[in-house]
Amino acid sequence: MATHRTKMLIIGSGPAGYSAAIYAARAMLEPIVVQGLQPGGQLTITTDVENYPGYRDVVQGPWLMEEMKAQAEHVGTRMMYDIITEVDLDGGSPYRAVADSGDEYIADTIVIATGAQAKWLGAPGEQELGGKGVSACATCDGFFYRGKKVAVIGGGNTAVEEALYLTNHSDDVTLIHRRDELRAEMILQDRLFKSPKISTQWNKTVKSFEAGENGALHHLVLEDTETSTLEVDGAFVAIGHAPATELFKGKLAMDESGYLDVEPGTPKTAIPGVFAAGDVTDHVYRQAVTAAGMGCMAALDAERYLAAREDEAEVTAEAAE
Ligand code: NDP
Repeated sequence: MATHRTKMLIIGSGPAGYSAAIYAARAMLEPIVVQGLQPGGQLTITTDVENYPGYRDVVQGPWLMEEMKAQAEHVGTRMMYDIITEVDLDGGSPYRAVADSGDEYIADTIVIATGAQAKWLGAPGEQELGGKGVSACATCDGFFYRGKKVAVIGGGNTAVEEALYLTNHSDDVTLIHRRDELRAEMILQDRLFKSPKISTQWNKTVKSFEAGENGALHHLVLEDTETSTLEVDGAFVAIGHAPATELFKGKLAMDESGYLDVEPGTPKTAIPGVFAAGDVTDHVYRQAVTAAGMGCMAALDAERYLAAREDEAEVTAEAAE
């Protein structure tokens, strides 16, 4: 068990955390990243990434995250393979955090970049067929189902947007919803109902995801008053995301879904020196590139916060002389 003193503790290791680390290390803040349960974040469970700027050819999600991590280390970040289990944000900076290993962190600033995770249905076959037909991200994986039959499960904005997005690749998209009414905004519903490529299955729940002989998704078993099947090559579960903010309940303001509140257009939480970046505070864009951008903003704002504090301390010291 050790105590680590740092100017910046970054909790989480997706694009937001690593980008904050790169900027903070280059500003000589000697940041420490505590990587969390899934080092590298959500991109480590996707395969091909084609929309992260700077790469003409497809790159692999895990590789991209390894590169970001290596870059952060190269400029002076310390990586800890640990999980923060407790934070104390009372009493002003420096703040204290404790990790699963028992290590303690005393940090002048904290960047929370713990991300979010897609919610899953929990139906049989769903996890087993992940990457083999079942996905939670049409923007990431839709491209692989060109000309194939796909389904989207859910009735909110995400589900409808995913279904509409999939029509770029497929002429046969089915939206499956557990009720007979969508939760999505009217403008999105309007686009959905106008699309000749999208059909709907109302009042249906997915009972299981079934594989074909090749081991990939072959059909869904649906249930309402009776059971039916729907043959598909790809199924996109779009029933919402859950931000990883359990640690901050009662300590930081969050919306009803658990996303951390920040001052609009900034990564600043209501607590000075504590910042939030990436999917943990963003339920709308949720892209690697937007998370990276927010990580950068958090590091720059942290640097300004520390500089302003030093200036204040100097003025106070001079006044006391
Ligand atoms: P939502 O919580 O809005 O919708 C989730 C949908 O999944 C609901 O239709 C819900 O059904 C359904 N669902 C939930 N659990 C299950 C289950 N176990 N089985 C079957 N269906 C289930 O999540 P979204 O991700 O769509 O949106 C989250 C937030 O992000 C919202 O505030 C949304 O407006 C926002 N958003 C905004 C966008 C934009 O502005 N462009 C884009 C995407 C999201 P039911 O309706 O019956 O509860």
